[in-house]
Amino acid sequence: MLHFIDVILPIPLQKAFTYHITEAESKFLQPGMRVAVPFGKRKIYTAIVYSIHQNPPTAYDAKTIHQIIDETPVVTSNQLKHWEWMAKYYMCSIGEVLRAAMPNAYLLESETVISKNEKLNVNESELKDDEFLIYEALQHQSSLKINDVVSILDKKRVLPVINGLVEKGVLNLQEELYEKYTPKLVRYVKLHHNHKTQDKLQELLEELSRAPKQREVVLTLFTMEASLNQPIKVSDLSERSGASSSIVKTLIDKQILEEYHLKVNRVQFDGEGDEDAKRLSEAQQKAYDAVETIFKDKSVALLHGVTSSGKTEIYVQLIQKQLDQGKQVLYLLPEIALTTQLVNRLQDYFGEKVAVFHSRYSGNERVEVWQNMCSKSEKAQVIIGARSSLLLPFVNLGLIIVDEEHEQSYKQFDPAPRYHARDAAIVLANIFGAKTLLGSATPSLESYFNASQGKYGLVELNTRYNNVLMPDIELVDLADKYKRKRMKGHFSDRLIEEMTETLEEGFQIILFQNRRGYSPIIECTTCGTSPQCPNCDVSLTYHQYRDQLRCHYCGYNAVMLKTCQGCGNATLDTKGFGTEQIEQEVKQLFPDKKVARMDLDTTRGKYGFEKIINSFEQREVDILVGTQMLTKGLDFRYVKLVGIMNADNLLNFPDFRAHERSYQLMAQVSGRAGRTDLRGKVLIQTYNPHHNILQQVSTNSYKEMFAEQMNERYNFKYPPIFRIIKITFKHKDYNRVNLAADWYAKSLKQYFKSNVLGPEFPPVSRIRNLYHKNILIKIPQQQSLGKTKEAIRKIDNSFNAVKDFRSVRVVINVDNY
Ligand code: ADP
Ligand code: ZN
Repeated sequence: MLHFIDVILPIPLQKAFTYHITEAESKFLQPGMRVAVPFGKRKIYTAIVYSIHQNPPTAYDAKTIHQIIDETPVVTSNQLKHWEWMAKYYMCSIGEVLRAAMPNAYLLESETVISKNEKLNVNESELKDDEFLIYEALQHQSSLKINDVVSILDKKRVLPVINGLVEKGVLNLQEELYEKYTPKLVRYVKLHHNHKTQDKLQELLEELSRAPKQREVVLTLFTMEASLNQPIKVSDLSERSGASSSIVKTLIDKQILEEYHLKVNRVQFDGEGDEDAKRLSEAQQKAYDAVETIFKDKSVALLHGVTSSGKTEIYVQLIQKQLDQGKQVLYLLPEIALTTQLVNRLQDYFGEKVAVFHSRYSGNERVEVWQNMCSKSEKAQVIIGARSSLLLPFVNLGLIIVDEEHEQSYKQFDPAPRYHARDAAIVLANIFGAKTLLGSATPSLESYFNASQGKYGLVELNTRYNNVLMPDIELVDLADKYKRKRMKGHFSDRLIEEMTETLEEGFQIILFQNRRGYSPIIECTTCGTSPQCPNCDVSLTYHQYRDQLRCHYCGYNAVMLKTCQGCGNATLDTKGFGTEQIEQEVKQLFPDKKVARMDLDTTRGKYGFEKIINSFEQREVDILVGTQMLTKGLDFRYVKLVGIMNADNLLNFPDFRAHERSYQLMAQVSGRAGRTDLRGKVLIQTYNPHHNILQQVSTNSYKEMFAEQMNERYNFKYPPIFRIIKITFKHKDYNRVNLAADWYAKSLKQYFKSNVLGPEFPPVSRIRNLYHKNILIKIPQQQSLGKTKEAIRKIDNSFNAVKDFRSVRVVINVDNY
C-alpha cells in the first residue's frame, strides 16, 4: 500500500499539497510535525503535516519528502483547527496563517539566508562534520542560501543540520542580522571526566595541595554540587570560592575542570512573583462575581468599566483562579510595547509563570516561548501578547482576556490573514471550551451590541477605584478664541492658564495631537502647490527636526525644499500641525519645563517606548506630547491635566467609524488624568463645541453615544448591523485597475445587487506606485456569510482565469474595520 501526507506549506496555496512517504514514515509521522519537502523545480520548504492517508493525488504525481524534522509535533491539533477556521473565515490560505503563526526560525526554506553569528565564539571541535562544513563555508562568504548548503554538503537533507546550528546560536537567519541581540549562553563548569573515579580524585587533591587556591576552588565546586544539585555557573563558582576567573581558567586549561555552555532563558522576567493580589473593592467584587455568574452559561462576557475603575485587578483574580485549576490564560493587549507597566504588574503577581510574546522580540526569543508552551513548561501559564499570540500552541487554555477590546490594532490589515484578534480569540476559546472576557472603558459598538442582544454577558463598572472623580472635561471654542485673539500658536488662553496652574502645583501634563511630524502639509502661498510623494497620491509631511519632507505611506523622504516646485517662489508655508510643532510651542511657552514627545518617530527600537514612559513616570518630564499611543492604558499617577489640541481632525476623518473612534480616543486620553485622589482636568480645543460626540465625551455618556451611533449604522447599513467585505484591486496601470474592478463589481452585482458599493478610488488612490480601487460588499444579517464567501470565491476563480487580470493583485478583507 502507498502512503501519503497532506502538508501545509507556508505560502498562499488554496489546496493542501500531497507528498509520498514510506510505510515506516507513515507510522512515525503525526499531524503537526515538520517535514522538509521539495516544491517547484528547486525550492525546499518546511511544511507542517496536516494528515496521513493512502489516497494518491489525482492531478499530479506526489513527490517524496526530503525528510522528517521533528520527533514530536510542534503544532497542536487545536492550533490546526483554529488556523483552519481562520483561513476559511478570513478567506486566505492556511499556509498564510502558518506563516503568521510560526517564528521564521521554525520555517527554514530554500530562500532563507543564513550567516555566521559573529558574537559567538564557536568551539570548532564541538561541531559535527556537516556542521563544520557549513561553518567553514561561512568563513569565506558572509551569507548562504539553503540551496547553497545543499551543494556544499552534497545532499538534500540539510534542514536539520541548519536547525541544529541555529539552535546552538552559531548561525543567524537573515532577518535577524540587524538585531542587537546576543544569544545568552552561560558558562558552567564541572569536574573533568578524567578525575571522576575515587582514586583519580584522591590523586588530584594531593597534587593540588601545593596550589591551595586551586584546591579551594575544586572543594568549593564539590560543596556547591552537593548542596545545589544543579549546574554550577563559572561566575557563581568564582564568587563562592573567592578565586579570580583566571584561576578557574587555569584549572580548565589543566583539564581538571571542564567548561560547558547552556542556554539561559532569554525572555527573562524582573518581577518577583510574590506580590499579594489586592483586595477588591466592593464594586470590583460585585463585578467579579457578575463575570463568574455569566461564565456559568455564556462563553463571553464584556466588562465595561470606566477608566481607572480597577479592571486589571479583576483580571488578576480571574487569572489566579485559572492557575489554581492548572489552566493557561491568554492576556491579549493591543500593543505590547506600550504596556510595560501592565506586564510588570502581572509579573509582580505571577512571576515566572508569565511569558511575554512580543512582535519586537527576535526570532530566537519567540522560538523559546513556543518551545516552553509545547513542553508544557511552568513558564508558559500566563501568556501576555499582542494579536499574534493567539496563534501559539496552547495546551489547556482556560480563559482569554481581551484588554482594551475596542482597539483598532487588534485587526490585522496586511498581510493575510486579515483577522480580528478579538473575534478570533472567541473562536479559540470555544475550541478549548474556555471563556473570553472582553474589557474596555469604551467598548466597540460590535461588542456592546452583542452584549445588548444577550449574545455576550454584560458587566458595568461605573465608578473609579477609590471613588476618584471622573475628570472634569471642558470644551474650548477655537473659532471664538481666534476671533478674540486669545491664541498663542495652537494654545488657547484657557489651556495656557490650566497648564500654568498644574505645573505650579507640581503635577504633570499630557497633550494629545493625532498627527506626528511638524506640520502635515506644505503649501505655496503664491500658487497653492504642495509637494507630493512621487510614489503615492499624498502630500508630503514636513519634519522639522531633520528638515525633511516625508511620506507616511511609503517612507519616501527628501530634503525640505527652499522654493516652490510649481512657481519657483520662496513662499512655501505650513498648513496644519503635528506633535513636533506642539512640542516646540510648549518649549517656548514654558522654557524652564521638561518636555518629551511620544510618537512613531521617537519610539523606534525595542525599548523606545519604555524610555519615554519611564522618564515620565519618574517625573523627569513635566509635559508629554503624543499621538494615539498615549491612549493605551497607561497609568501615570501625577497627571492632572490632559489637553486635546484639536478634536476636529478626529471627527472629520472619512470613515464610518470616525465618530465612534473619536469618542473612544478622547475618553481614553481623558482617562489618563487624575487617576489618584485629585480630580483631573481635561481641555478639548475644537471649532465645533456643540458636536454631539464632544458633548457625550464631556458628560461621559457612553450609552448615549452608543444609541446615536447605532441609529446611524441602521440607517446607512453599516456594521454591526450589516457586515462588510472589502475587495481591493492593485496595479501599477491605472486603466487595468479600472477594468479589473469593473469586471469584478459587475459579477458581484449579479449576486448581491445593490449591496455592492463601488468600485471607487480611496482618498489615497496610489500607494508605492500602485493604483488602488475598492469594492465594498454589505451583507445583511439574514444573509449567510458562508454562502456569500462561496460566491465571492467563485467569482474570484473566474476572474483569475482572465489573462489580462492575472497581474492585478486582489486583496479580500473580511470585516475590514
Ligand atoms: P483600569 O484598568 O480599569 O483603568 P486599573 O486596574 O489600572 O484601572 O486601576 C486603577 C488604579 O487603581 C491602579 O493604580 C490600581 O493599582 C489601583 N487599584 C485598582 N484596584 C485596586 C484595589 N482593589 N486595591 C488597591 N488599588 C487598586
Ligand atoms: Zn509615498
